[in-house]
Amino acid sequence: MGILFYMIQDIYPLKLHNEYLPRSPRQGDYLFAFAGSQVIVKPDETFFRYEDLAAYSSFVYLFEINSTGFFLIEEPEAAHVSLNIRQMRSYKPKHLGFAAVTAWQLYTWMNDNQYCGRCSYPMVRHKKERAMRCERCGNIVYPKISPAVIVGVVNEKNQILVTKFAHSTYKHYALISGFAEIGETIEETVIREVKEETGVDVEHLHYYKCQPWAFSSTMLFGFFCRVKGDDRITLDENELKEAIWAERTDDIESPDNSSLTSEMIRLFRKGMVSFDEL
Ligand SMILES: [Zn+2]
Repeated sequence: MGILFYMIQDIYPLKLHNEYLPRSPRQGDYLFAFAGSQVIVKPDETFFRYEDLAAYSSFVYLFEINSTGFFLIEEPEAAHVSLNIRQMRSYKPKHLGFAAVTAWQLYTWMNDNQYCGRCSYPMVRHKKERAMRCERCGNIVYPKISPAVIVGVVNEKNQILVTKFAHSTYKHYALISGFAEIGETIEETVIREVKEETGVDVEHLHYYKCQPWAFSSTMLFGFFCRVKGDDRITLDENELKEAIWAERTDDIESPDNSSLTSEMIRLFRKGMVSFDEL
């Protein structure tokens, strides 16, 4: 079943070490610089390493993968090349693509929290934790991670509910998805999102896997479930352009297999998810 394990965070046998143990950069460590949604790279589209830019004075420790360190730096002044953060989904070697999106998530979080939301004083990086701290009022802000769901709904005919977004650059079929709202459990999110987007009721929720999704600072929880009762679709046209029941043989896979959505669709197409077993 090796074919299933392609998600962007699946970098085994390498391992992300996100324990906050800041250290100075050393030879071989990677340096990431970003400008908005662009990742700054060398002309050959590889990432800067410490030996390339050792003359820099400011390195912000992010994390390690095995014993290699990853640091954030200011955008280099010399002429440079950049790649969009979305291109990191298929970057090779894969663990550096995962490192880049995780670093970008931290970069955007730091950028969005330069000032205290409580008293508007400039924030500084906390010395002992991965956090931003206000030196005036003591407010501490940790990286924001928002829970959301990806839902594979299966009907009695063993078809799966797939959708296309109304307002997105993503043109392929996707599963139902949405953010948890305040006051609800993640199971309630699943039931509410499917109902809101397609009018379909679901039951027999089975948790599959989760995925940290840096692009939206999200933790995605993947569920498969059964239709409860009528499987007629009532489309939420504000959110979706299309929602259909797809067969296992239908061409609904996206070309990029870094996401939980594509892994769940592949699992369904291989016959590994069926109504009777949910
Ligand atoms: Zn403050």
